[in-house]
Amino acid sequence: MNTKTSIVATLGPASQQTETLDKLIGLGVSVFRLNFSHGTFETHQTTLEHINQARKSFPYCVAVMGDLSGPKIRIGQIEPGTSLTEGRTVKVMIGETLGNALAFTTTYADLIKDVQVGQRILLDDGQLVLKVKEKTPTHLVCQVVIGGPLSSRKGMNLPDTQLSTPAITPRDWQCVDWAIAHELDYLALSFVQRADEVRQLKDYLKQKGSRIKVIPKIEKPLAIENIESIIVAADGIMMARGDLGVEMDLAQVPLVQKRITALCRRLGKPVIIATQVLQSMIENFSPTRAEATDVANAVMEYADAVMLSGETAVGKYPVEAVRWLAHICRTTEAYMDSRSEPRPVIDTAPEQMEMQSIARASAAMLDEIKAACVVAWAHDTDDVRLLSKVRIDVPVLSLSADALTARQAALYYGMVSMQHAEPASYDEWVAAAEKVVTALGLAGPGQHLLMMPPRSTLSQHTAYTLTFHTVAG
Ligand code: PGA
Ligand code: MN
Repeated sequence: MNTKTSIVATLGPASQQTETLDKLIGLGVSVFRLNFSHGTFETHQTTLEHINQARKSFPYCVAVMGDLSGPKIRIGQIEPGTSLTEGRTVKVMIGETLGNALAFTTTYADLIKDVQVGQRILLDDGQLVLKVKEKTPTHLVCQVVIGGPLSSRKGMNLPDTQLSTPAITPRDWQCVDWAIAHELDYLALSFVQRADEVRQLKDYLKQKGSRIKVIPKIEKPLAIENIESIIVAADGIMMARGDLGVEMDLAQVPLVQKRITALCRRLGKPVIIATQVLQSMIENFSPTRAEATDVANAVMEYADAVMLSGETAVGKYPVEAVRWLAHICRTTEAYMDSRSEPRPVIDTAPEQMEMQSIARASAAMLDEIKAACVVAWAHDTDDVRLLSKVRIDVPVLSLSADALTARQAALYYGMVSMQHAEPASYDEWVAAAEKVVTALGLAGPGQHLLMMPPRSTLSQHTAYTLTFHTVAG
């Protein structure tokens, strides 16, 4: 059971069996990611069935996030053994012809319209760099700035270009419909550039009667320019360091991460730190010193979650990767808890001010009266999101009658989340809270609980209240 920084694990051939999923949940994974860039709807369906099977062994919730590929651009087929030579020119065309060192194709139909002379084209995660010298109606003439071997279907990044392609491709929309039909909890959206792209997806979901939450992935320089409005529009943010490190100067990535984690803290939205978190564990049994330090830094920056990609999807040691990630997080959190940090003030909407003051009051009360944990009724995810963002030192148990609310809360820092029937009275609430915290081992006889009871058990004039209770026995 994870009561601090959440862990997101990407699923794939290395981890999609029920037995492995069981182990990963046991070690502290709160969210599983299904990456629509790989696999088919059939394989995702099977994985989802395995997740649902594994979920049955745990009283608390695990969320599922689908990841939409967005306008990920790739090159077409290319002759085996092709290598681009520095200083030479190469043509980039639209179409399906087999490429070589003189000319190759791309999947991006608007390439010629969007890319301007002087802009860069990066290939294969930025390993190769081209500069556009000339534009014709049918192709771009580029100079090879950094050459090297190039093989079919490698990724293409256009860091200097504003893409005219919609952020959500026709294939993404199919994935969105699949996610709605299969009741996923979150959708991550790749290569977002502007807040209206986030709103477009949210509006569509709303129109379909879906409450799936949307997590834009920050991996384009333009998204960084528009970061505040994107965070405001989003339900959370993914710091997608993989493509971001290709699209911009890698030396800027740590600074962007610091800025984004700080902004998400101020704006009260969860932030996931993603990509190459324990990259070396795809092959190795333990992480590198640099990886351990990176994870610890993410925790110290108040990231809400850290994510594993290839480590759990295709790596040799998916279970060990989660074990190490949890171990590094727990060790850093213990240090963080030993310091007394000022509580953040969150820029909330006026209608959420009450809940924010309750969240901050909880933290202040716990400084006076030590409680083993907080038990909060989540009328909706905003209640527990704000509790999560003030960083209460003790675990927060979030209970909700609504299955989706309960699952979504699993992503938030510090939450253990469960679905529970709504108690009919305050006495029933106390009995339920005692029973659950004892069963989960969050508190024992004689220990205090700080509680935020459901509104329905309070006087009709009270929206929120905090109460203390001592576990009997
Ligand atoms: P991806 O996104 O793994 O879907 O590419 C994450 C990243 O780019 O960091
Ligand atoms: Mn990416």
